[in-house]
Amino acid sequence: MALRIDGKAIAAALRGEIAAEVETLKARGITPGLAVILVGEDPASQTYVRNKQKACQEVGFYAEQIDLPATTTQEELLAVVDRLNHRDDIHGILCQLPLPRGLDDSAVIAAISPDKDVDAFHAENVGHIMIGDQRFLPCTPAGVMELIHRSGISVEGKHCVVIGRSNIVGKPMAMLLLQENGTVTICHSRTKGLADICRQADILVAAVGRAKFVTADMVKAGATVIDVGINRDENGKLCGDVDFAAVEPIAGAITPVPGGVGPMTIALLLKNTLTAAKQQNGVE
Ligand code: NDP
Repeated sequence: MALRIDGKAIAAALRGEIAAEVETLKARGITPGLAVILVGEDPASQTYVRNKQKACQEVGFYAEQIDLPATTTQEELLAVVDRLNHRDDIHGILCQLPLPRGLDDSAVIAAISPDKDVDAFHAENVGHIMIGDQRFLPCTPAGVMELIHRSGISVEGKHCVVIGRSNIVGKPMAMLLLQENGTVTICHSRTKGLADICRQADILVAAVGRAKFVTADMVKAGATVIDVGINRDENGKLCGDVDFAAVEPIAGAITPVPGGVGPMTIALLLKNTLTAAKQQNGVE
């Protein structure tokens, strides 16, 4: 039976380390500050933002939520970002995406100062990830790397297959695996022979957004299977992209959903905000 990678426990350990660092920073008069902008009243976005605020408070950050109505104009939103860019008590800024219709996600991402872009979505930060001298790691892929590291799994020389090529998960995931000397294959909806490619993976990362997409016949015995997906199954129950019950007996290690990658994403957001606060205050 596979090692079940406990994202909840690993995220809790990481949050504990962050809280300890925050204590040290506070003793020097620095409190990391994160501003989260929420436009409109999408219930899923409200839940994500609430969880981020709570996590910030738990590690001792200053957290500010800016609620804007769905009728906010592009200019008004950019003006809010600009004010936050200039505030010394705010080290990290994120705008919960997707934005309501009529607002441009990419214009807002571009307006956030790259120094405060703790989601690592700004083109300048994406460029840094490509070069490998990143200041912020993209939260979900970096969370996956933490899970891999803290489970004692080495990436070097391994065939890593990433299913999905989105800008927020698939592409940066592939870059981080490559940086650790994995041999990386990126698959997507036009990939031919997907199951064959997946079967060659020593490390298989699924970021597709389709319930139970990865079936047992797509997994090599002993492979590490990382499930990024967050979906609902036919009964409305939360599930990942991997058919967990069928794949667990074959895999060497596997992340469950919930309790795998999900808790890591917020933990990495906290880590990036801590990094931003240190960088903006000249702390090594
Ligand atoms: P996107 O929809 O942006 O990307 C999905 C990717 O999967 C695309 O590259 C797409 O290919 C590929 N894909 C879709 N269908 C197939 C198929 N039949 N065969 C092969 N590839 C396919 O999603 P995200 O990357 O934003 O998210 C992926 C999943 O991860 C979602 O379930 C999301 O909810 C979850 N997620 C979880 C997070 C967490 O914290 N755990 C954070 C972020 C996302 P193509 O490019 O060709 O269309």
